[in-house]
Amino acid sequence: MNFGIAIHGGAGTILRSSMTTEKEKLYTDALRSALQSGYSVLEKGGSALDAVETAVRSLEDCPLFNAGKGAVFNNAGAHEMDASIMSGKDLSAGAVSLIKHVKNPVSLARAVMEKSEHVFLCGYGAEDFAKQMNLEFADDEYFRDEFRYQQWLKAKEADSTFLDHNIQSEVRSPKSEVNANDKKFGTVGAVALDKDGNLAAATSTGGMTNKKFGRVGDSPIIGAGTYANNNTCAISCTGHGELFIRSVVAYDISAMMEYKNLSLREACDEVVMKKLVKIKGEGGLIAIDKHGNIELPFNSEGMYRAMKSSGGEEKVEIYK
Ligand code: ASP
Repeated sequence: MNFGIAIHGGAGTILRSSMTTEKEKLYTDALRSALQSGYSVLEKGGSALDAVETAVRSLEDCPLFNAGKGAVFNNAGAHEMDASIMSGKDLSAGAVSLIKHVKNPVSLARAVMEKSEHVFLCGYGAEDFAKQMNLEFADDEYFRDEFRYQQWLKAKEADSTFLDHNIQSEVRSPKSEVNANDKKFGTVGAVALDKDGNLAAATSTGGMTNKKFGRVGDSPIIGAGTYANNNTCAISCTGHGELFIRSVVAYDISAMMEYKNLSLREACDEVVMKKLVKIKGEGGLIAIDKHGNIELPFNSEGMYRAMKSSGGEEKVEIYK
């Protein structure tokens, strides 16, 4: 039985010209280490669910990505994080939104899936549940990253909300202290197929810089940012959340495979390169089907991504 895993660390305006060799190495090392942590789980016969949770936790713990440690700042100067996880075996799912102090939001989403009678918890309720589950908490300082903080000051000054991907294109300030060479991107996610033929997907994010009013993106929304179904595929998205919600991206790909018999590649192409492009929905996704085929499509300049399959293929890539 084939098995495999794919991960992402966000899509957006990621240009080779704005990256140094050292920075590039930091990203590829972090991606490779998260990929390997998830792949090891699968190799030992572990579940796809354990593999995606393990890989996403590794990315959440890395300050380079916009999830867990290093999450972006909201309008009030706080970190409000969203995460979700889904099992393709029985379509069970868990999601959390607007949570502030849980160290690994993806593990809270998993606890919601497995230990509550609900699918989606948010805000203080989700945090109360995390306490009951004895999950690890961290203070504001743990999540803080200086670059994210500078991004937020710029966004506030311009009274704008933006994806951490696209600071330059959306906030033009002559006084910008945010150096293009220091640009950081990144919602994170993972999808996997295990040796038993089970699929799983997980996504985790800090959302958009300077977001207001309890804004929630696609990442914690089952069917939009995350979806898994053993009959079709597992998907984790990254990009402009509002457009991904309106396009029900992750489920749309699964539905086209289920009802129109499209291949994973055809379905991904239809959604990422046609439907999303039509409504200016910038971003991408990672996908794996029940046979272990992996697709990593994006319509932005780049996407931090990596994949490894039992067939021996391994990739860690950033640019187009
Ligand atoms: N999709 C995420 C959101 O809109 C952002 C991202 O992918 O970086 O919250």
